[in-house]
Amino acid sequence: MQTKKVTLPKLNNLSPTLESTALKLMEEAGELAQAIGKLRGMSGEASRLDEKQVMQVISRELLDVAQTAVSMMFVLEEQYGVDIDALHQEHVEKLKRKGYIVDTQAAGGTTREIKAAGEK
Ligand SMILES: [Mg+2]
Repeated sequence: MQTKKVTLPKLNNLSPTLESTALKLMEEAGELAQAIGKLRGMSGEASRLDEKQVMQVISRELLDVAQTAVSMMFVLEEQYGVDIDALHQEHVEKLKRKGYIVDTQAAGGTTREIKAAGEK
């Protein structure tokens, strides 16, 4: 199975909560949607950026979403005792069961793996 790891740090200059990370996740998701829609003129806006620049902005916003998701994982682990690693395995099994991942060697499938910095 082809994979891509994105290791993101635990932010150590904030005191995140479940609620603050959830709200931030929605905020960042909104910024991603704005980049995809507005910067590409999907509602008729004139875009002053070329496609390469827009894709850079979209990618940066996507990383903000991923960073916030990882921050929320740390909150769930540290404040609520959730075993994210175990749930991650369940998640991958669910994807296989639903047919989103098939025999990856035969199909050449790709996954993107996001891990928190320091995670095994
Ligand atoms: Mg952002």
